[in-house]
Amino acid sequence: MSFDARWADLLDVGRAPGGGYRRFAWTSVDSTLREWFVASAQELGLDVTGDRAGNLWAWWGSPDADGPGVVVGSHLDSVPDGGAYDGPLGVVSALAVVERLRRDGFRPARPIGVACFADEEGARFGVACAGSRLLTGALDPDRARALRDADGTTMASAMAAAGLDVQHLGPDQQALRRVGCFVELHVEQGRGLVHEGTAVGVGGAIWPHGRWRLDLPGRADHAGTTALADRLDPMLDLARLVLAARDAAGRHGALATVGKVRVQPGSVNGIASAVTAWLDARAPSEAAVRAVLADLALDGLPSPVEESWTPPTVLDSALTGSVAALLGGAPVLATGAGHDAGVLAAAGVPTSMLFVRNPTGVSHSPHEQADRDDCLAGVDALTRVVEHLAGP
Ligand SMILES: [Zn+2]
Repeated sequence: MSFDARWADLLDVGRAPGGGYRRFAWTSVDSTLREWFVASAQELGLDVTGDRAGNLWAWWGSPDADGPGVVVGSHLDSVPDGGAYDGPLGVVSALAVVERLRRDGFRPARPIGVACFADEEGARFGVACAGSRLLTGALDPDRARALRDADGTTMASAMAAAGLDVQHLGPDQQALRRVGCFVELHVEQGRGLVHEGTAVGVGGAIWPHGRWRLDLPGRADHAGTTALADRLDPMLDLARLVLAARDAAGRHGALATVGKVRVQPGSVNGIASAVTAWLDARAPSEAAVRAVLADLALDGLPSPVEESWTPPTVLDSALTGSVAALLGGAPVLATGAGHDAGVLAAAGVPTSMLFVRNPTGVSHSPHEQADRDDCLAGVDALTRVVEHLAGP
């Protein structure tokens, strides 16, 4: 089994008609991916365990007896019609690293773990990094259990259907204590490394980011008989919201996106009765994100309901510095994308990231891409990092 063989294993799992992936948490596709992870890890002789948050851990050595350990890995779920690399590249690379170290006769001085985090994208239930947030206590288990997907299925029943113990869902200090440090390899979601002219970089910081829901009320009515002046049309507020968010982001050096809306009842010849819109906003500083939100309020839009907020994360500077040095002075980049690495860092785990060059910079799309040579360079880099951190 090589990097290529494992990569090929995943190519058809959860593939959507348009070529992207629909790998949503706690679906049958997700179960296939989790079973693949367990089987692949066991094939390498690793001990696989779950935790109280639904994440999977594969250990080389005993993290309780000899830990804490050096953990690598990422996630396997995707956004709707996502790319192949976001998440799986980190998991497949981590398994390839273990295979190579085993083959080379490496004797770890500390246990090595491969993590497969559950529900990183939040595509189904709306909360990003749900698995790692539950693990650290950043997401309340009662709130998680009650989250609903678009069909009204709760996270609790989806997890139970996937065979999870939902009663004991929640923070897992024992699982967390096993993690001495965490290095997540991830495809870059931008073109920083293209500009640097190098295949692998190191993550230094994650921008603060949040998700807000805006409920825009209206009144259903006939599209052919209701005079314009008599309408209460929430689509006009939606249009104002989209433009206001874009303008505010431009003013404050932020990014703001309305990428999901729900229109009720959604008929072509009727005025909508209600619109729900979700806003994603991020920036290098919290002040800039909050300034975007404040500008929306000035535009007279209803107050946004905060569904998730992640403060800025500075990854462990000593670890990041030593990883960058180990990789011959690899560039250190900040990212606007959230990651399980950020959640662990916020919980006090020394954490760093490796990014693999993405020639187009496109991510969360079927066009997300990384060259095979760059992926293999990522495996090389992660191998050196693990050898260094888990070595004698
Ligand atoms: Zn990811």
